[in-house]
Amino acid sequence: MKVIKIGGGSLKDSETIEHIFDLIATRGQGNIFVLSALNGVTDALIQGMSAALADENTITEIIGDLRSRHTLVARQLISNCDGLEVFGRDLDKSLGELDRLYYGLNFTREVTPRMRDMISSYGERFAVELFASALRCRGINAAYRMPEEIGLYTDGKFGDATANLRKTTNNLQRNLAPLVDEGTALFIPGFFGISETGDITTFGRGGSDYSAAVVAVAMKAETLEIWKDVDGFMSADPKFVPEAQLIPVLSYEEAAELSYFGAKILHPRTVEPLRRNKLNISIKNTLNPEGPGSLITAKSPRPEKVIKSVTYDTDIGILKIHASGVGARPGILAQVAGRLTESGINIKSVVTSQTCISLLLAHNDLETGREVLNSLRPRSYGRLEKVDDVALVSIVGEGLAKRKGIAARCFAAVAGCNVNVEMISFGPSRVALYFLVRTKDLHSAVNAIHSTFFSVPRCE
Ligand code: ASP
Ligand code: MG
Repeated sequence: MKVIKIGGGSLKDSETIEHIFDLIATRGQGNIFVLSALNGVTDALIQGMSAALADENTITEIIGDLRSRHTLVARQLISNCDGLEVFGRDLDKSLGELDRLYYGLNFTREVTPRMRDMISSYGERFAVELFASALRCRGINAAYRMPEEIGLYTDGKFGDATANLRKTTNNLQRNLAPLVDEGTALFIPGFFGISETGDITTFGRGGSDYSAAVVAVAMKAETLEIWKDVDGFMSADPKFVPEAQLIPVLSYEEAAELSYFGAKILHPRTVEPLRRNKLNISIKNTLNPEGPGSLITAKSPRPEKVIKSVTYDTDIGILKIHASGVGARPGILAQVAGRLTESGINIKSVVTSQTCISLLLAHNDLETGREVLNSLRPRSYGRLEKVDDVALVSIVGEGLAKRKGIAARCFAAVAGCNVNVEMISFGPSRVALYFLVRTKDLHSAVNAIHSTFFSVPRCE
């Protein structure tokens, strides 16, 4: 049995979804499918929260839009069968709940983390309801189960939950194995689970990949397949580097590093649950299902050139905390990190020296981060500086930290194109080297590195 995760990028409209139905019809029986929400639906649910908070009159429109988006797809995909009514009933019930939640938050005038998670879980709920009804009409034995029904338990942390693998394994084995044995194509919404106290808790944006990994481990699947609308991991972003190549095999660490800064192929936490059982992940392109895709395994081959990929992240800025001795004084980092975390700001990375702590934050968090730290009392540091026209480049490959000359070749390539390196982090990860350049230099830097490691050197 396989667990197959289908991403929102492959669920755009009735045409793309119909194509997925065909794939499921040929490969689906007896497998478990973990679904994302239809493309853009989670964003709409989240934007709906701010709109509903500001003005209750928008709620009817939010609900109406979600209804028409899903009904339109259902009408185009379900015919000559009672599936449309079944889905209509499911949808009415879910939208009714959602409607009450939106009014609730308008009434209480706040979006609590609990409310945020509950509301954002609905996109995945609609998706499994739609799929099960539509496939039953195609004569496929299909069913869905919600995480709260089957006991997919989490640690209860809103917005960033972790699955309780032990409990989840027991529950899922008990509740799902009979269905799988009957050959049912079983649909489970990704993205969220339930806490011990009964709260809906999400695994963070893009978290359906992680859900699928949890289900795969719990059900002892032979493999986890991730269906996407791209071929797999590439040696660079093909939009940036036209000669980029597909990476056929990667290790867990390589995939996690590439996903953390840059390639939006996989949620970086997906490999966490799989490690112990050494379960493989295979990335498949729904637009090219016979293509080889990328395989992610416990161990990956080490090519002669070591480097597998060069990736980048433009959603990055630096908040520099200057003061003499900051790097050596105990407690400052803890104070700063604690304060940022309280304000819901995620620190992507930290680089420290004796006179400066550099925090790498997402662009959106940069100004808030500065304000929050500025207001800290007592204040144990001097000047705060914000740098926002930088981008982070990372090169990734198992064995990179042990092979002589990799960093030298990388930086020689970058310098050869007249690009200045603003900051470097090398060492914390065995498989990745990161550095920052000015945004205007990003394209040249990535191309220079890719050419050095993958083909003939050239500058842009
Ligand atoms: N629908 C959720 C999101 O957009 C989870 C996912 O797609 O993985 O973040
Ligand atoms: Mg997604």
